[in-house]
Amino acid sequence: MNKKHEFDIPNGIIYLDGNSLGPLPKSSRLVLDLALKNEWGEMLITAWNRAGWIDLPTKVGDLIAPIVGASAGTITTGDTLSIKMMQALHAGLQLCPDRKVVLSDNGNFPTDIYMAKGLLDTIGGYELRVVDPGKIEHALNDDVAVLMLTHVDYRTGKMYDMKDLTDKAHLNGSIVLWDLAHSVGAVEVELENWNVDFAAGCTYKFLNGGPGSPAFIYAKPSLIGQIKPFMSGWMGHVSPFSFDLDYRPTPGIERMRVGTPPILQLKVLESALKLFSGVKMNEVREISVKLSSLLIDLLDDIPELKLSTPRESKFRGSQVSYSHPHAYQIVQAMIDEGVIGDFRAPDIMRFGITPLYINEQDIRNAAETLRSILKNKTWVMPS
Ligand SMILES: *Cc1c(COP(=O)(O)O)cnc(C)c1O
Repeated sequence: MNKKHEFDIPNGIIYLDGNSLGPLPKSSRLVLDLALKNEWGEMLITAWNRAGWIDLPTKVGDLIAPIVGASAGTITTGDTLSIKMMQALHAGLQLCPDRKVVLSDNGNFPTDIYMAKGLLDTIGGYELRVVDPGKIEHALNDDVAVLMLTHVDYRTGKMYDMKDLTDKAHLNGSIVLWDLAHSVGAVEVELENWNVDFAAGCTYKFLNGGPGSPAFIYAKPSLIGQIKPFMSGWMGHVSPFSFDLDYRPTPGIERMRVGTPPILQLKVLESALKLFSGVKMNEVREISVKLSSLLIDLLDDIPELKLSTPRESKFRGSQVSYSHPHAYQIVQAMIDEGVIGDFRAPDIMRFGITPLYINEQDIRNAAETLRSILKNKTWVMPS
């Protein structure tokens, strides 16, 4: 499971921020080099066909599919997660035309909320209803067209029961859209078995696709053909190179593509995803739970650290977060000592747990570093 040697992680660094930006897979360097030299450099425009660039977005989607319990042909890639969430939300609203409310929670990542609000204000007549995470079930009523949630809270690491909430939303007659930013490659997700309607996620966090690598979008097989894409770009057209002025979407998930795909980023992502081939998500999860619990246990006797992540592993994603009034300074002091976590406003320090390149010794060392910074108040000293 541990593939640390397959990543370029600087010596002496314990990297607990792979939930924000995954590290560089060694293979990605090589793949990018070859794509530049042999494909773009040599083939020029002919590479769209000769090197298969044109089909790369869905080919890469097919590599993501097994990681989230989806079948081939149900996921495509491109754009950013903000855009993919908006496309999926719009598709969900079309499928539930008599209802006018989108339900989400106030712990959601702001871009999801901003994009939803922007879309709803533009089309008009809709309401975005944002409630406390604990009140979602109660707020599911006849008004709700789409339940739009992030599976794992980016700050607290709290994880919803995706299957249970999806079932409840369906019983309520609503469509569900899950943001998998902090789930894909981190926890077990069974999109198809759990009957999820739409999902989207980013690939630069736990999937290690590199800064700005394209997002992915999933639609339930039975729904794909019903989606009328409002971002009806030419790459979703059934025959883009006919340059026909009438938009006709492809029958498949490619209808969620928009414009020209970022080939170099896709190449890097494709190579990063190969590190997941043959890796079982239940095994990743098992180690992630073990390492997270270990970190919590090791720090449990420090009263000034307030655990924000649920103690019970089934309610937790693949991160451990603490609140502390000086979280920012403490995270900086840890970085100075080679342990990279991150800070999220207002007072959260966040440690991502990534079994592909973090092991038990890393967790013990990180805990020791944090303990000594707190004990010696190193964080007070400007560095
Ligand atoms: C990281 C993250 C995003 C980022 O969106 P981009 O469009 O890729 O910048 C969106 N939603 C959630 C929940 C995230 O954690």
